[in-house]
Amino acid sequence: MIKDNMDDRIITNNQIDGDEAENSLRPKILSDYIGQDKIKANLSVFIEAAKKRGQPLDHVLLYGPPGLGKTTLSNIIANELGVSIRITSGPAIERVGDLAALITNVGEGDVLFLDEIHRINKAVEEVLYPVMEDFALDLIIGKGPSAKSMRLNLKPFTLIGATTRAGQLTGPLRDRFGIILRLELYTNEELDKIVRRSAKILDIEAEKDTSLEIASRSRGTPRIANRLLKRVRDFAVVAGDSGIGLKLAKKALDSMEIDNLGLDFTDRRMLETMIKKFSGKAVGLDTIAAAINEETVTIEDVIEPYLLQLGFIARTPRGRVAMPLAYKHLGLESLISGQQVGFLE
Ligand code: ADP
Repeated sequence: MIKDNMDDRIITNNQIDGDEAENSLRPKILSDYIGQDKIKANLSVFIEAAKKRGQPLDHVLLYGPPGLGKTTLSNIIANELGVSIRITSGPAIERVGDLAALITNVGEGDVLFLDEIHRINKAVEEVLYPVMEDFALDLIIGKGPSAKSMRLNLKPFTLIGATTRAGQLTGPLRDRFGIILRLELYTNEELDKIVRRSAKILDIEAEKDTSLEIASRSRGTPRIANRLLKRVRDFAVVAGDSGIGLKLAKKALDSMEIDNLGLDFTDRRMLETMIKKFSGKAVGLDTIAAAINEETVTIEDVIEPYLLQLGFIARTPRGRVAMPLAYKHLGLESLISGQQVGFLE
């Protein structure tokens, strides 16, 4: 996971301290995986076909913002295929030798999960091409004029790559994935189910309205939903309540400065900056990032997807624009100009 100053936020999508117990909340089979219905329907066909053919599943690329369930889904795929999974990440494979050591230990038909595949280095990526295509590992032995190339045949396996940004993958790498799946932000109803499922596992009594309240402040992201559930439970424990009621949940979420749509200080600051500082005109991502002192990648991966889904901002060829719904949410309707009204039509 990318570590950055966003991790100070309770609603960061990235994994932070306290999320380690995530494993206990991960669904293990496809039918327990909530939402992403299209992906599930397609995957179950591909998995069944691979099993019937007695061949490994084609390589899979999963992409979408952090915390949407890419790691979880990869574990489920291995589980449903009845094979083992090895987990690593792009930045962890520094040299070709690291990749060789890893890959020669992957059993026939097993899954190798490569998180943050967009951060893999060029030399490793080039060795990965024949690995993915022909299950062949080309190694250079020795140095200088006496160096020899050697080809090692590998057992066929499935590579599952995960990335927050498919656009950053090179064409040749992307083309080597037979199955490309884009994870979408979850609806409040789906997150409600996720919160209720997690509450059951964690033995937390949550009323239906409470789980929906938490869900609707979770920015479409299961990781955030699970985290908010745990933090709300902390408030209940301190208050001496046995379960979590709606009133307490609202109070807890308000005191963590997460508003009714799940926006926090950083989201509001970004919208306010776009509206006030840049007078609601189209602004480039880098300019916004500099103005609010955030990394451009963080805005692109974490802040923006949810604001786009809410219809609070729009992407235009000239940059990002705050939309009338954002003005309304911030109580800045009086600043809506003809330009924004134009967007409504
Ligand atoms: P990513 O790899 O995309 O960053 P993870 O797979 O680590 O996300 O998911 C984060 C947490 O969210 C996991 O602990 C898991 O319990 C929960 N989660 C994600 N997707 C789902 C889902 N579809 N149904 C239930 N829980 C989910």
